[in-house]
Amino acid sequence: MSSTTTSIPRVWRDATGRSRLHGWLAVRVAIVTAVAYATGWGPLVGAFGHLLTLADGLRRGGARTIRPALAWSLVATTAAQLGIVLGIVPNYVPDASTHGVALVASGALVVVAEQIRIMMRTKELAEAELRASEERFRGLVQYSSDAIVVIGGDARVKYMSPSATGVLGYSEEDMLGQEYLQLLHPEDLPRVLAFVEQMAGEAGAVGMIENRIRHKDGRWLPVESNCHNLLFDRNIRGFVLNTRDVSDRKVLEERLEYRAFHDTLTGLPNRALFRDRVAHTVARASRSKNPFSVMFLDLDGFKVVNDTLGHAAGDELLVEVAKVIQATIRESDTPARLGGDEFAILLEEVRDDASAARVATRLLEALRRPITLQGKEVRIDASIGIAFSPEAADAEELLRNADIAMYMAKHTGKGDYEIFEPQMHVSVVQRLELEADLQHAVEDDQFELFYQPIVVLETAKVVGVEALIRWHHPERGMVPPGEFIPVAEESGLIIPLSRWVFEQATSQLKAWQEAFPSHPPLYISVNVSARHVAAGCLVEDVSAALDAAGLPAESLTLEITEGALLQDTQATMEVFTQLRQLGVRIAIDDFGTGYSSLSYLQNFPIDVLKIDRSFIDGMSKGTQSPALVRAIIELGRSLHLETVAEGIEHNEQLSRFRELRCQLGQGYLFARPADQATIGALLAKTADPVGAASKVDAS
Ligand code: C2E
Ligand code: MG
Ligand code: MG
Repeated sequence: MSSTTTSIPRVWRDATGRSRLHGWLAVRVAIVTAVAYATGWGPLVGAFGHLLTLADGLRRGGARTIRPALAWSLVATTAAQLGIVLGIVPNYVPDASTHGVALVASGALVVVAEQIRIMMRTKELAEAELRASEERFRGLVQYSSDAIVVIGGDARVKYMSPSATGVLGYSEEDMLGQEYLQLLHPEDLPRVLAFVEQMAGEAGAVGMIENRIRHKDGRWLPVESNCHNLLFDRNIRGFVLNTRDVSDRKVLEERLEYRAFHDTLTGLPNRALFRDRVAHTVARASRSKNPFSVMFLDLDGFKVVNDTLGHAAGDELLVEVAKVIQATIRESDTPARLGGDEFAILLEEVRDDASAARVATRLLEALRRPITLQGKEVRIDASIGIAFSPEAADAEELLRNADIAMYMAKHTGKGDYEIFEPQMHVSVVQRLELEADLQHAVEDDQFELFYQPIVVLETAKVVGVEALIRWHHPERGMVPPGEFIPVAEESGLIIPLSRWVFEQATSQLKAWQEAFPSHPPLYISVNVSARHVAAGCLVEDVSAALDAAGLPAESLTLEITEGALLQDTQATMEVFTQLRQLGVRIAIDDFGTGYSSLSYLQNFPIDVLKIDRSFIDGMSKGTQSPALVRAIIELGRSLHLETVAEGIEHNEQLSRFRELRCQLGQGYLFARPADQATIGALLAKTADPVGAASKVDAS
């Protein structure tokens, strides 16, 4: 085929086989036919290979997957056939490769036949696919739990799926041709109309809306609709709504919302909801000029119930308190639990001090009635703060005022109520400032221990010292303990403060014991807060301080007020017993001012009674009968308790107590509380066992 004679097609040769073409034309023709012939093979072979892939694709993927491949196959075969026509048929000569021609021709035939088969199969498949997809769609629409509704441009229902009856209750007859908007809740209508307008503005737009629709049975059904604007689509010409009943979801949402705005324990509104209600009432009241009030209520001693009877009892108590509050106030009032043991009430009808006082008194009385918790009877007190709306600019301020009034009620004697006055704000702010300063004071070492001698009344010999804390405030100067100890107790700072006192006091006493040995050795009396007793770390803190100082436990007396004994009897008893085991002595401070029952004196491991200054003072002023003081001293003696008279300022008082055979005393007559150096000097002077107590200059 590549020889010169065969390179020119037969049609261009004469009878002798010579070429009719001459020169460059003959050469051109020979080249073109040769190239066409040669290139015809390539696509043909490619088309064969491709047929295998097509058949495979057909088996696996369906008509759509093979369509592009089929196109390619057609192009390839056409090219091959063109090659054959151009290159082989005209060039056919007996001496050319007959086998080659036959091979090419049959190959082309096979390819074409296979293409025809594939084309037919593709068509069949495409039709089958269309049928399947239509059935699928029908099934989806028919059995879908969603209602599919098509609404025309005239807002009337054009189509509804059978499932729409299941969702909305209406039959096709009820719905078709009806105005869809008539079924919607009137309150939702403006929102739905705005949505439709927005959807209509954009062909093909898709959006979601939630609204209520009237079910055939009359109830309002919350639904969620996916809307597709197919107004432009020839086959649809409407909005396609895919509507779903979301009642279950709404119920869940409502439950979650309820949880978010209600206290789970008592079921009362919580702080967030209460604030919201107050804000609404403030807005309404400013329009109607109707004042109202807000009450904050905090339980006194709730912690004791929680600690002694357990958290379950604490919870039970809160539920009971909620019930009492609800039963005591009017229907129109809104009670709330703000958290912990704090409640609040919005009193829309309470507009003056007198009616507020009546409600508060009624509440306090109702709460004081015994409540049985886990078989035990508990009485609960509360502190109430009341604020009136005209005194506040907004809800926040009103709530703050009620809170401040409650805070004042708590600090000016519990179990009562206070009505907000603007100056309360100042004192609360001062208190809060003090608390902040106190925090720094602990860190910045602004405290100092003063010591006041305790003497034997008969001889005036110093046998012990009471440690009394002093705070050197950087701006306010010396702050007395009576002012900051309650703040420290409230904030919990009393614990670190107390530890510091223990460390200082024990190491100072150790130094004095070494410098001024005596028999028995000098002791130190340290005041302990009830809060520290309840904290559960007192015994540990005391023994740590004793160990660090190397001081025997007998040299330490802890002074505790009567109130501390009442807080949690069982736990206090345990703490006292452990302290006793340690060897530490326990004194009841300010005895006679706290609790009338004296049974605890027998039950608790107590060593010392410190008779409150008011007895000593009152006796010399004639307001206090000496018989009572005598009875106290006698009681002490019979119980083998040491008695200390506090606040002896005058010689007559001293002689009175000597007569009453009170053993020890403390007071300005002997020495004022003073710093370590001053007391050190005093101890040095009185180290002589015969020496009498010297008077120390006032601090
Ligand atoms: P307290 O334990 O009853 O201390 C006696 C208070 O009476 C001291 O007041 C003392 O200065 C004062 N005093 C002593 N003799 C006389 C007197 O002859 N006349 C008069 N008018 N007063 C006298 P101070 O130091 O102001 O302490 C007040 C209270 O603060 C203490 O009462 C105690 O309850 C508490 N306190 C002091 N230091 C501490 C402490 O370190 N921890 C704790 N938890 N409380 C402390
Ligand atoms: Mg004391
Ligand atoms: Mg005292």
